[in-house]
Amino acid sequence: MAKKLFSREKKVLISSPIGFKHNVHVGYNPETGEFYGFPSEWKSALDNSIPKEEQRKNPETVIKVVDFFHNPESGPKFMDVASSEEQDDYKTETEAPLKKKKGPPEITARPLSTYTAATRDLSGIRIEENKAALGLKKPPPPKIPASPLKKRTKSLSDDEVLARLRSLVSENDPRECYGSFVKIGQGASGSVFTATDLRNGSIVAIKQMNLPQQPKKELIVDELLVMRENRHPNIVNYIDSYLVDEDLWVVMEYLGGGSLTSVVTTSEMSEAQIAAVCRECLQALKFLHAQQVIHRDIKSDNVLLGIDGSVKLTDFGFCAQLISDDQKRRTMVGTPYWMAPEVVTRKAYGPKVDVWSLGIMAIEMLEGEPPYLNENPLRALYLIATMGTPKLKEPTSVSPRFKDFLEKSLDTNHESRYTASQLLAHPFLKEACPLISLVPLIEYALKVEAEYA
Ligand code: ATP
Ligand code: MG
Repeated sequence: MAKKLFSREKKVLISSPIGFKHNVHVGYNPETGEFYGFPSEWKSALDNSIPKEEQRKNPETVIKVVDFFHNPESGPKFMDVASSEEQDDYKTETEAPLKKKKGPPEITARPLSTYTAATRDLSGIRIEENKAALGLKKPPPPKIPASPLKKRTKSLSDDEVLARLRSLVSENDPRECYGSFVKIGQGASGSVFTATDLRNGSIVAIKQMNLPQQPKKELIVDELLVMRENRHPNIVNYIDSYLVDEDLWVVMEYLGGGSLTSVVTTSEMSEAQIAAVCRECLQALKFLHAQQVIHRDIKSDNVLLGIDGSVKLTDFGFCAQLISDDQKRRTMVGTPYWMAPEVVTRKAYGPKVDVWSLGIMAIEMLEGEPPYLNENPLRALYLIATMGTPKLKEPTSVSPRFKDFLEKSLDTNHESRYTASQLLAHPFLKEACPLISLVPLIEYALKVEAEYA
């Protein structure tokens, strides 16, 4: 049985004060068809995203998603611990056996029209940045406590974070043992380089983050701890870390095959290939959830591939570690298109949010992009909250087993939604091809990327 850690699930009632502005009363007047209490710029963003007709149908949901959109960090409530392995017996598909696929000898390239760099970029941006798309101003950066002596209440001071990091990192100078740095990527928190370990010649990836520039330094400590303490073949493994002047260097294993995003946007994947990637990711999720860790940002961008076809989860910056007191609760969010309905409507949530996101990622592999990617983010949140399990573009071309797998992971009711370990036993995954069969897709994606670079 799932243990309830926090049951602060609060019913949002029309006209009651809710989280987003201190004691602002928001409500909906069915007679005028207008919301009251929203700042005027929110109202125009709302009207641009959700037609009045739909607003009228679901005023409560509208309030929830608008609140979530403008204040994504103001308080999800965690509930489940990942320890329970309820063995819900589930129906397996018996009739209409899966079309036998003879492992795709050739790659079916996706037409470039479905790969629009602009929409893809938007998907990689988090809600804060997405607001720009609706002409909304960014809120001022959070204030950092001025006094370094301030007692720890909820968050650590910069000095405490630094002290914590110092106790975690290796003491020597990494420039003595790593050389030949080549920049391979840039993320929100820093740059990623490949480097050669001068002691054994192996190639590693090093993420370099400038600490004074990080808005949420504690999350970096968390990311480091999660990576360091959770070693698994389907997780990008941590090797070492260092403080170099004001930069934190995190050395990790290098995956040369790029991200799964490059594959889903360039090739059509067979169901056997999709099953293989799902299985590998679910193995990582089963492991993380058993350690009480929720990833919270599962999407193809955060799945890295090895040139041998290995599949590994990365980006633990949003992880929440569930422990019995609430001191470690985190209130960060992932990317809207992959979010579970209970997240966007601010219900209590647990590890199964990752299972939902995995289902969305399976749709990415099938269709090249997640549902609602072309909708603006506020509308996408509304659609996630109201549309239920997303509809497939071409359901008739999808096998019954794959459909059932998607239904089990994209169950809007998180109680009945499968756990990662239940999904691992799903018959769809029995169709998985060997990982080596992913290599042609990876090579093709690398080739396309090189051409566009
Ligand atoms: P964020 O800063 O929010 O995490 P991000 O995921 O885009 O954003 P990084 O995690 O810093 O940024 O990664 C930047 C790029 O480097 C990514 O595109 C990723 O593909 C690549 N990369 C990161 N880690 C590795 C790795 N271990 N091996 C190979 N490439 C990597
Ligand atoms: Mg990242």
